[in-house]
Amino acid sequence: MKKEQGEHKKQQTLFTVGPVMMFPSTLRLGGTQVPYFRTPEFTTTVLDCEQSLILLADAAIGSRAVFLTASGTGAMEAAIINTLSPNDRALIIVGGTFGARFCEICKDAAIAFDAIELEPGASFDPEMLKAYDLSQYSALLVNAHETSTGVRYDIAALGAICRANGLLFIVDAISAFLCDPISMISMGIDVLIVSSQKALALAPGLSMLLLSPRAIEIVERAHVSSYYFGLKKYLQDGARGQTPFTPAVGVLMQLLDRLDALKAIGASALVDQCHARANYFRHAIEGLPYAIFAQTPSNALTALSPQKEGLAQDGQQAQKARSAYAIYEILKNDYGLVVTPNGGALKDTVFRVGHMGNLTKKDFSILAAALREIAE
Ligand SMILES: *Cc1c(COP(=O)(O)O)cnc(C)c1O
Repeated sequence: MKKEQGEHKKQQTLFTVGPVMMFPSTLRLGGTQVPYFRTPEFTTTVLDCEQSLILLADAAIGSRAVFLTASGTGAMEAAIINTLSPNDRALIIVGGTFGARFCEICKDAAIAFDAIELEPGASFDPEMLKAYDLSQYSALLVNAHETSTGVRYDIAALGAICRANGLLFIVDAISAFLCDPISMISMGIDVLIVSSQKALALAPGLSMLLLSPRAIEIVERAHVSSYYFGLKKYLQDGARGQTPFTPAVGVLMQLLDRLDALKAIGASALVDQCHARANYFRHAIEGLPYAIFAQTPSNALTALSPQKEGLAQDGQQAQKARSAYAIYEILKNDYGLVVTPNGGALKDTVFRVGHMGNLTKKDFSILAAALREIAE
């Protein structure tokens, strides 16, 4: 149903890829006084969060989590500069904006790398690595889900190759964690990167690194030329439930509350729920002129490409709806439904519908109905 003018200002539903719709108890906590943090109580909060994350990520005994007050990109940078040096060479899978970000970080840190560039929306066949002499690399870097195009990679297969070749396996799971299956142990992941504003559905500003015992050893030995992002301090202080600097205390309080709820459900049930939402939506738009863009879609979101052929020839709305960006604008302004537009080369051809956060099947059926109306 179209919203009356002005009505959407009161209420918008976010189908974005972060921040996402938050849960009532998170919202309640957001309105409470942030506590002082150099206390035994807050120490317990940090240690509990670490244990829950280790459990949900299925990390090996002896793994650690560190909490950074930074968006996810800060954690990507911290992962790279604490485990790689200019003596190393990294191999990076680049299927879009977030893969390219790994390359930019390496460039700034003077770390040599080779990028395997994929066509937007294309999947990655681990067989492609056979063309590379893996002995010349120290690490493989990949986004478990390339959020700019909706593509999910085969992390288990990549992990097996890393293990067989002694490569450190660094995985940005910022948009995959709790949406697609992630197991640090069975997928051989050494560094897992997570952030607060995606499937955890918290306020932005907190990112987390989960480190395997092997990654911890490397971090402990590293000489890092960043004061704030040198992880040794975080590991040291984290052992007693503290952070070297003032953390995003409020977001950590939200995280504890959320992880307590999630732990009870379990990671695989959460992945199943996200999968069910994604499936429901994809089913609901079957027959509509929007093609699924990713070859191997993540449960986190559905990237859609409007198909000119299917759109009404004479409808004014349908004329506009030939552009993905125009669809985003119509949905937001006329319906109060906020999907995620793409930038750059994909601006007019792709928009993304997120399945993370506090969304129900009803929300997706409303969105599907709006997409149907727009195409007419
Ligand atoms: C959201 C996201 C990030 C982090 O972006 P920030 O804006 O820095 O939080 C990194 N990688 C992926 C795959 C993401 O989806």
